[in-house]
Parts: sequence; C-alpha cells; structure tokens
Amino acid sequence: MTDNTALFERALAAIPGGVNSPVRAYGSVGGTPRFLVSAQGPYVTDAEGREYVDLVASWGPAILGHAHPDVVKAVTDAAARGLSFGASTPAETELAELIEERVAPVERVRLVSTGTEATMTAIRLARGFTGRDLLIKFAGHYHGHSDGLLAAAGSGVATFALPGSAGVPAPIAALTLVLPYNDLDAVRAAFAEHGDRIAGLIVESAAANMGVVAPDAGFNAALAEIAHANGSLLIVDEVLTGFRVSSAGYWGLDRSYTPDLFTFGKVIGGGLPVAALGGRADVMEHLAPLGPVYQAGTLSGNPVAVAAGLATLRGADDAVYAHLDRTAAAVSAEVSAALTAAGVAHAVQTAGNLFSFVFGESVAGGVRDYAGVLSQESWRYPPFFHAMQDAGVNLPPSVFEAWFVTAAHDDAALARIIEALPVAAKAAAS
Ligand code: PLP
Repeated sequence: MTDNTALFERALAAIPGGVNSPVRAYGSVGGTPRFLVSAQGPYVTDAEGREYVDLVASWGPAILGHAHPDVVKAVTDAAARGLSFGASTPAETELAELIEERVAPVERVRLVSTGTEATMTAIRLARGFTGRDLLIKFAGHYHGHSDGLLAAAGSGVATFALPGSAGVPAPIAALTLVLPYNDLDAVRAAFAEHGDRIAGLIVESAAANMGVVAPDAGFNAALAEIAHANGSLLIVDEVLTGFRVSSAGYWGLDRSYTPDLFTFGKVIGGGLPVAALGGRADVMEHLAPLGPVYQAGTLSGNPVAVAAGLATLRGADDAVYAHLDRTAAAVSAEVSAALTAAGVAHAVQTAGNLFSFVFGESVAGGVRDYAGVLSQESWRYPPFFHAMQDAGVNLPPSVFEAWFVTAAHDDAALARIIEALPVAAKAAAS
C-alpha cells in the first residue's frame, strides 16, 4: 500500500485516531497525514515517494539531520552486541558524565526512556525531598502526559483546545497550581498563599509547546530565587531545548541561576527513547536505591538507545550549534519577509535556534504568555501549512509547535523553502 489516504484509513481501523501521538492526526490543519517511510539529512520521504524538506526533525532529536552516518553506525554496532540487558552498561555512565560535564548544576543523572517519565519522576522526587505536595506549572507549558501535568498544557493539548484531560482525578489536578507565564507577581502571590506546601515549580526553560515563547530576561533566575527562599525546588524542563539551543541547553545561554533539577529528552536519545532527570546530588540521592523515592525501568539506559544518544551528543559540536543558529535565523527571516510581502501581520517568536510564528495585527508585537498565543489568528496557519507541504516542505502540523532545523539543512534545502514561501504566504493572507 503506497497511498497516504489508504494508509490513514487502514490506520484508523486499527489505532485510535489512526495515530500514536495526537498531533500527528493533522487535527488542527486538516487533511491526510503523510505516512513517512524514510528520512535522510534534511529530508523526509512519504509512502507515495514524495520528498519534503523537514522542519520537524522528529520534534527535536534529529539535530544532526536524519540518519546521520555516525549515529546509524553507533546504533547498528550496539545492536549487534545485544539489544537489551536489563543490567548496568559502561555506556550509561558515559552518557551521564557527558550531561554532567556540559550542564554544570547537574551532579547526578538518572536515565529513563521518555520525557514524560523524566518530568513525572522529577516531580515525585521534589515531593519526596521536600515532604510537600503542591506543584506550580505555567499555562501553555507541556511537560508530557502524566496526570498532574496536563492542566492547561501546550502541544497536543493546546492543538486540540483541551482544558486538560479526562481521566485525571480532581484531587490530583488540584495539586497543580497553573500560573500565567512570565508573571512573577503571580508566582509571588502563590508562594504567599501556599508557600509551605509548594514542593516545586516546573518550567520549560523556554516555552516551545505553545509555539515558542521565551522567558523574559531574568524570569528563570527569579523563579530559582523565589523557590529557594521558600524551601521549594526549581525543576527546569529542557526535554525540548536541552542540547538543542546550545551545548548546555537553554540554561547554557545564560547560566545565571542554579536549578535543583533538570529534565532532558529528545536530543540525548538522538532519535531513540532516552530521557533523563539530573541535578543536585543531595536531591538525586533521594532516588531508590539510595533513597525512598521509587523509580525504575526495564528499558532504562537501553544500550542501543544510549549509543544513539552518545553519538548524537558527541557530534553536536560548536560548528553544529553555529550552523543551527544561522539556519534558524535565515529560515525565520525568509518566512517573515514572505508574510510581510503578502500583507500578513505576524511576529517571529524565538528562543535560541527555536522559532515559530504568531499571526494577526493584535500579536504583531509578539506574545509573552498562553493567553497571547491563543489570541492570534491561528486560522491563517492551516492554508500556509498545506501550501508549504504541496511545495515539498514539512512543517509542524499545528501553529502551537516550534519549528526545528538540523545541521543537515544546507543551501539546497533552504532554497526549496524560499521557493515555496510566496504562495504559502498568500494562502495565509486570504
Ligand atoms: N517536556 C517537554 C518540554 C517536551 O517538549 C516534551 C515533549 O514534547 C515532554 C516533556 C515529554 O516528552 P516525551 O514526549 O518524550 O514523553
């Protein structure tokens, strides 16, 4: 079967919504999802044999480009030595050490398989360490799909305009205080009211699951200060930004504050399931087997996945980050110029080499929080998305997602994007 429509119909009969992660269903852009069969460098190819310049990059992991030869070799070499042992391996320690070298506040690392597990465990650890039960998160921030984190979340929850998720017991949801992003007064007020019950705050280091919304200058540092003044922990979620916006993640662009815990994912697995939490040794040592906070995983630190992560991180050198920065600046400037030429009011939202766009006159100065993101003319995005796709460019299928470039995006890939833009920008204008 080689037809996207037929493949989707078949998937719909076997898988809820035909997909294994909601945003893949194209719910907010409409049309038939492309079924991908291969990917190389900056390109992905669908079942009908059409090739697209990819600006999704598997939602971040493919930082070196798809199927980078060093990563593929590391994976095939590791696979030939055995797929999974359920026991300690030397490579796990190498990956932990590499993360600790690059992100100074991280003194210990525990590997897990998904970002959801990493944030879920970090929160349990914050509660176990402080003996408190409340958690602060910010509206529009996405930290995976564990029960307490789905309130006012970004990513697919925003794409489908859900307030949260059914199936989350009210007493669990009530333990999460959801505050507006970039609003320190709201944070101070929450601590004034509940300070001795707040175990921690979790924040995306830069929000990138409601489109991209960077923290105000000094915002993350102020969160650290407020948390520490109140005996709470700051958990900085770098699942998406970690090792993507710099070799030390978004924290590495500033380094002025010291989070207690970090979460990582995506790039540290290089396309295979590896994620991690890491941070202060005294906090991390509350995890089993040293401490009373339980966490475990049959496939945690899987040798094939760790090999992919190590090869990816080792390949991500200064030249890669410089290339990502240049390419992100070039793509976002070209998109912005095309939208301006077509008369579409918009703003480019950036955080390091991550970027996205908000549409409409009322947001043309940029947005700082979830309410701002939701107030845009988001209906302009689907026609833009489809025109780009028709011209061979694969964009995130939702206006509430970041765009991702890779080290493999070269002049030819950029030229294809530039060629596609005038028609797409016109589609967004109508
Ligand atoms: N945290 C952030 C900031 C994310 O962007 C994501 C996924 O997009 C997650 C956590 C959850 O990671 P995973 O999808 O691996 O469970």
